[in-house]
Amino acid sequence: MAIANLTGAEARPTEAPRRLSVLGATGSIGCSTLDIVAHHPGRFEIAALVGNTNVGLLAEQAKRFGAELAVTAAPERYQDLKDALSGSDVEVAAGPEAVVEAALRPVDQLMAAVVGAAGLEPTLAAVRQGTAVALANKECLVSAGDLFMDEVARSGSVLVPVDSEHNAVFQVLDMNNTDQIERIILTASGGPFRTWSLDDIAGATLDNALNHPNWSMGRKITIDSATMMNKGLELIEAFHLFPVELEQLDVLVHPQSVIHSMIEYRDGSVLAQLGTPDMRTPISCALAWPARISTPSPRLRLEEVATLTFEPVDDVRFPSVALCRDALKTGRTAPTILNAANEIAVAEFLSKRLSFLDIVRVVEETLEIANRSGMYGHMHSLQDVLDADGYGRQTAQAVADGLQGQ
Ligand code: NAD
Ligand code: MG
Repeated sequence: MAIANLTGAEARPTEAPRRLSVLGATGSIGCSTLDIVAHHPGRFEIAALVGNTNVGLLAEQAKRFGAELAVTAAPERYQDLKDALSGSDVEVAAGPEAVVEAALRPVDQLMAAVVGAAGLEPTLAAVRQGTAVALANKECLVSAGDLFMDEVARSGSVLVPVDSEHNAVFQVLDMNNTDQIERIILTASGGPFRTWSLDDIAGATLDNALNHPNWSMGRKITIDSATMMNKGLELIEAFHLFPVELEQLDVLVHPQSVIHSMIEYRDGSVLAQLGTPDMRTPISCALAWPARISTPSPRLRLEEVATLTFEPVDDVRFPSVALCRDALKTGRTAPTILNAANEIAVAEFLSKRLSFLDIVRVVEETLEIANRSGMYGHMHSLQDVLDADGYGRQTAQAVADGLQGQ
């Protein structure tokens, strides 16, 4: 019996499969999520899969995993998705409202892995009805942190962070002693430009910025990692997720990406979660929680890594972390506007219409304009968030257009 108990978390012969929907199924996190599902036949059951324009992959996933429903956020791709799934039992829908309906389909857990604030409405809808959420979409919390966490508390939804740093903190969080946390230390790889001079960074190309040293991820977050805006967004994400003040949140550059984050307790103990940089580990933690399941992730061999190094963030070459800290201090809708401006600036850089350093410049200038114009509003409702997001996008676009004209 002891052996059966020990292996029970893996085998679970009598437990019903966990019903799961995946928002952003065709993305980097979505594909890794389905890879974990494939590794545990019988453990999960797929309800809805949601993607955007890559309907070929979405249809393939829906058939392979026996999904009930496949949704493309892009209405113009409806017919292509329908054609790709003809002859199957998979229901098909399209458009932003269908995405929200997919998120509301009854499940045991929702993987929220849409990129950007586009993920807010469906994820918030699921949270409001009390659905448990594995949260990869950090922009949700940056854009609407207070509102989102209030809804989590009100509905009793269970939120498990998937972002590797936050998942690491989640794993070493002593819930009985949260008042004993001295600080949370988020680690950062430093991105591809960690050792570059400011002059060299000024000339960075799109290919340079997409060449992340450790992690393979979607394009937006890869650019965010290069500007280190990703770490700033994660600082805001951590502030909302964990019971600490902003002053208790630190960032430490750790180029090997072995320690995924740490908590320092008041007794001097520092607890860390370590692993190879493979998102399937935090994803599996969220999908199995409170159990654990195996993953095909490469194992950590510390004797091969041999050296772990750490350095502070250079705020001159990477001003984005301080910018995010300031926006969080300002509060109200400042982080919403920051996030929206960053999404526009990254999209412009990805389209080769902005230079690398202009990404953070657009965010900075958008925040300055918003401040001067008295646009930092209160966040009482989703509409307040959507209004601030819209304002941020419009203002950032105008700033970016102005820079292109120079
Ligand atoms: P990605 O670009 O690879 O995938 C994004 C997914 O969202 C795709 O399936 C796309 O079809 C879908 N999508 C895009 N716009 C949509 C819309 N308007 N409506 C519905 N679906 C839409 O991105 P990713 O790297 O998988 O990142 C997803 C989220 O997870 C981001 O918020 C990112 O910050 C976070 N995250 C990613 C990683 C990683 O390793 N990739 C790590 C930590 C956190
Ligand atoms: Mg992260």
